[in-house]
Amino acid sequence: MKRAIATQTLPGDLGEKIAAAARAGFDGIEIFENDLLYFDRRPAEVRAMCRDIGLEIVSWQPFRDFEALPAATRQKAFDRAERKFDIIGELGAPMMMVCSNVSPQAIDDASRAAADLAALAERAAGRGIVVGYEALAWGRHVKDYADAWAIVRAADQPNLGIVLDTFHLFSRGNSLATMDEIPPERIMLVQLADAPDLSMDSLQHSRHYRCFPGQGEFPIVEFMQRLTRLGYDGVVSLEIFSDEFRTGSTRQVAHDGVRSMIWLDEQILEAKAPPAEVPLLSGYEFVEFATEQTAADWLETLFESLGFRKTHRHRSKNVALYRQGDVNLVVNCEPDSFAHSYHERHGTSVCAVAFSTERFDELRDRTRRYLCEPFENRIAPNELDIPAIRAPDDSLLYIVRRDAATPRFFEVDFEAIGDPEHAGFGLQRIDHVGRVIAPSGFLSSLLFYRTVFEMEPTPSVDVVDPHGMVTSRALVGGGVRLSVNTSHARESISQRFLARSSGAGVQHVAMSCADIFALAEALDATQLLHMPENYYDDLSARWSIDGAMLTRMRELGILYDEDANGRYFQLYTLSINGLFFEIVQREGYVHYGEANAPARIAAQQRQYEQANRAMGFGDTP
Ligand code: MG
Ligand code: MG
Repeated sequence: MKRAIATQTLPGDLGEKIAAAARAGFDGIEIFENDLLYFDRRPAEVRAMCRDIGLEIVSWQPFRDFEALPAATRQKAFDRAERKFDIIGELGAPMMMVCSNVSPQAIDDASRAAADLAALAERAAGRGIVVGYEALAWGRHVKDYADAWAIVRAADQPNLGIVLDTFHLFSRGNSLATMDEIPPERIMLVQLADAPDLSMDSLQHSRHYRCFPGQGEFPIVEFMQRLTRLGYDGVVSLEIFSDEFRTGSTRQVAHDGVRSMIWLDEQILEAKAPPAEVPLLSGYEFVEFATEQTAADWLETLFESLGFRKTHRHRSKNVALYRQGDVNLVVNCEPDSFAHSYHERHGTSVCAVAFSTERFDELRDRTRRYLCEPFENRIAPNELDIPAIRAPDDSLLYIVRRDAATPRFFEVDFEAIGDPEHAGFGLQRIDHVGRVIAPSGFLSSLLFYRTVFEMEPTPSVDVVDPHGMVTSRALVGGGVRLSVNTSHARESISQRFLARSSGAGVQHVAMSCADIFALAEALDATQLLHMPENYYDDLSARWSIDGAMLTRMRELGILYDEDANGRYFQLYTLSINGLFFEIVQREGYVHYGEANAPARIAAQQRQYEQANRAMGFGDTP
């Protein structure tokens, strides 16, 4: 199959779209009429631009409100078609894509529609053009692909076929069974779009919420499996109308489109293979903080108050490791390093996260296959060369080989200065990392973690912030959990974090323990975020919590949630440069305490306002 993209999927002008599609590696492009209308080059010049850059024009689209019109306006529709054929000819596009009529004038008469399309196809044939007919979900009379196919079959013209668009199929809840009746050569074009499963008007759903396969909830993989079984070998084109894509970078959206198609191909192959016994990701190997000495002392105070000790020093760099259980926090103050330049841009923040994997070679290959940008680190002789790629927020992701035969990173690059197996207060491992993403990059990030790291996203959750709405989604893959948040509200905690840190990604690091009550008693309570009394009144009303336990939770500032699988206890530290830590005790529970997020955010808002009042300027959002 040939990979194509429709120009309306990409932001920018037509010239930028063509360049980005070619650079990302698409074979072809669909020219959306409006993109041509507003462009200052003639169709023949656009044709030459595409030819010179090695991009095939696969269609011109869409031709609207054509079929089954009353006699009075029918001739006018054919005249309009002739003028469009002139443009399509000049453009060198092989196909006119016609979408089903939405005009209130359209007649509910399938044989009339078939006769019109047959006549249109005859005229197109004279110009060497094929016609593809698509059922729009909001068409006046033709809404479903089965009806469009019946019309195309009745029209019976060799250069007339159907266009299958997954958005229209799935937003109408169409069965895929009718696909098996369509000879593959009669499918002129396949358009792919995913979308979140929203109960709303299909036109609004289509115009604003389409997304790439892998970013939404439609069964695109099943559709592609069926298409492959049919023997379809034509063009598959990404046709996305998205508010988020419109505000993104042309290059990034095109790049994500290719990534999405690579993932789809892989999903089809994987469906035939037995599932892997070992997950791709084992866990978090370390979290690395970029800072300078004064703030490093501050971090050390906070880490020690959470039970960490500085257990290792890097052999050649100004880098320290704080350990507790299997939580590794790296503090990097090395001048002339990635961490240093990250600190210059973002302030004290998380500049890198390392994932460990038992399938190291395979994961490294995946990062290449999915077009990840590698990062070359400066390493001294005898130091580990840990591969790194850029995360979507510009921080780094390291990939660490984890197996019995391989030493841990701190056994090679670091020297021990304390007990390497320091148990501290009982923190055991990193439970999850929370990232904030700018709204224009939210879907892009989701696709990145899903495709490269085989992490599965959970449905999105709306979290109320005192100053706006925050959208939160979680991704889980093997031993790695990740939560990603975004918000359009300028004063929400997420947006303030992005502004304060110039777009640093990691906002919180959550670490797990087996006994949060014992841990909370060992902690320095002045470092913790306090929940209001009202929160605990509500807890006792919602859940049957033992009275003595509730009293301890109230005293220690512990938050609580439950799901069908078990209980969850949480504690939060105060924030530094918007960054904070969470301590969790998970008892089978699979969520992230989303129900507690509004209480946490409101408490953080109070911390922010208190700090503002105390210092006379904004700090610690
Ligand atoms: Mg379409
Ligand atoms: Mg969390």
